[in-house]
Amino acid sequence: YLMKASNEGIVIKEKYEIGVPEIESTIFSTLLKAREKDIEIEMDCIKLESNLPIKIYDLTKILSNLLKNAMYALEKANGCEKKLKIKIYEELGFYVFEIINNVPIIPRELREKIFEKGFTTKGKEGSGLGLHIVRKMVEKNKGSIELKIDKEGNHFIVRFPA
Ligand code: ADP
Ligand code: MG
Repeated sequence: YLMKASNEGIVIKEKYEIGVPEIESTIFSTLLKAREKDIEIEMDCIKLESNLPIKIYDLTKILSNLLKNAMYALEKANGCEKKLKIKIYEELGFYVFEIINNVPIIPRELREKIFEKGFTTKGKEGSGLGLHIVRKMVEKNKGSIELKIDKEGNHFIVRFPA
């Protein structure tokens, strides 16, 4: 069971079964943190099968890195609504994992750079390794990663053949 948090401080218990305990607990700790930080969370996740085509260890690392980045960005944002969306779905023979933060929009000139090893905008707080590692792990599992930006925010979209 996971909780759904909103910035009104309401906690709705929902029967949210993703089927992978490691992923559930990663999301769960994000939810708890979001509630503290006034970040609204929206989740839309399917239940995953037990015979996933991805190593659970890798998938957990990938998602926790993306969630950590999104939460960091949202925490630092000021004077606006803060929204995090977590989506897991199946589409055209792919498992898709999508993490979206509405603010701040990543500037155009950084959209490729952020995947480079060692690139960070966080000064001493950053290592610039997160997205580099994410991309490596995604590719090792024959998946792909895309950064799509629209008015909803930054979408980090990871796909694995189902
Ligand atoms: P680090 O987190 O150590 O800075 P990453 O490789 O994880 O390294 O991220 C590189 C940079 O990409 C970050 O410093 C930040 O500027 C940007 N970034 C990554 N994810 C997001 C996000 N969800 N929203 C806004 N900026 C992001
Ligand atoms: Mg990072």
